[in-house]
Amino acid sequence: MPFSDDWAFRDCPWCGLRDAQMQHLALNLSADRRGPTPRYWSVISCRRCGGAILIEHTPPNFPQAQLLKVVPEHGADVRVEHLPDDVRKYYEDAIRVLEAVGAHASHVDEKKARRALQFTTQVLRNLFEIPAEPAARSEPEPEDEPE
Ligand SMILES: [Zn+2]
Repeated sequence: MPFSDDWAFRDCPWCGLRDAQMQHLALNLSADRRGPTPRYWSVISCRRCGGAILIEHTPPNFPQAQLLKVVPEHGADVRVEHLPDDVRKYYEDAIRVLEAVGAHASHVDEKKARRALQFTTQVLRNLFEIPAEPAARSEPEPEDEPE
């Protein structure tokens, strides 16, 4: 089975839009690799933010359509690397509260709550994540090639 339309309905991992119908960009692309069977990918995108989502799935001639991988993963929009444990605990509580708000559609405006969370995510990333350049500099120097 080729790309299944059910997969187009999902939360956006970029902007957090929920149960959105993603736009089809390119479906059932085959990527050759070593060996007899290529891998199959489809690309869809969020209609609100334009973020692209890559889905790996079973080949079009496969009897059952099966989703194998989604990039970026669900929750990538609020992931912060290198958070201190005590800060992480509060942050994860905040994310859980927001998910609950979305699920029960309470009087709290989910859009505003989501915006606050995105701001918090950015602040925490700026505070605790190591920028790419210094992180690369701290990598061990490659051994000198013998001449
Ligand atoms: Zn989006």
